[in-house]
Amino acid sequence: MPQRPSRPCRHRGCKAIHRNANGYCDQHQEQAQQAKRGSAGQFSAWYTTTKWRILRKRQLTAEPLCAYCAKAGRVTAATVCDHITPHRGDPEMFWAGPFQSLCQTCHSSDKQREESRR
Ligand SMILES: [Zn+2]
Ligand SMILES: [Zn+2]
Repeated sequence: MPQRPSRPCRHRGCKAIHRNANGYCDQHQEQAQQAKRGSAGQFSAWYTTTKWRILRKRQLTAEPLCAYCAKAGRVTAATVCDHITPHRGDPEMFWAGPFQSLCQTCHSSDKQREESRR
């Protein structure tokens, strides 16, 4: 088994030497992973994945116009792939949809409405 070189922990102020791939000692690598996931923004990282980019592109290709604007009789190019049902961090809901295409304006006003409903 090839051994990784020993390195100091990347955690601020920690001098522990380790061989972990992610740069943190045993004590801090779990902490670092949790911070990365974050309880509030755990799904925000999903938006940066290639899987999401493909999904989003597919949605915007299928429905290139904003669904809300269309209802109001406006023709606006959609730039946002929005979850019709709030996924609330549920991976199944996040990846399976259903989705709708929205413009940036409708998307942000829709999100504000959701916030006030809470
Ligand atoms: Zn450490
Ligand atoms: Zn719109």
